[in-house]
Amino acid sequence: MKKCRSCKDTKEINEFAKCKTGKLGVRGTCKKCRSSYMTKYDRDKFIQSKVTQGGYIVYILNNEDYAGKTVNLEKRLSNHRHNNKSVRHEVVDIFKTNEEALYVERQLHEQGLRGNPWRLRKSINNNN
Ligand SMILES: [Zn+2]
Repeated sequence: MKKCRSCKDTKEINEFAKCKTGKLGVRGTCKKCRSSYMTKYDRDKFIQSKVTQGGYIVYILNNEDYAGKTVNLEKRLSNHRHNNKSVRHEVVDIFKTNEEALYVERQLHEQGLRGNPWRLRKSINNNN
């Protein structure tokens, strides 16, 4: 358990985004506070700048209980939109390495979010 710097709530560690330099390996503010920091415009610009730096993006589709990882969010979302036109997404975090992004994505899948089946299978095997 960890106290969020912003809302002062004590939450499970998995409610915080992973951060190697942070205490307990997570950020000081919870995911919920963090996602409300920025306006959609700011966040889009922030994400775009990260994307051009070559980040690995972990995202959630709110109305599908789906968690995924991509290096090209716009392209990935347009694929999702193909199936569901009103898809709403939320970026969980952006990572420098694929391993960090996979780790977080796997945690989301373990919390019950859907995802690419091969990754899900892999994560189950790794735990056994
Ligand atoms: Zn918080």
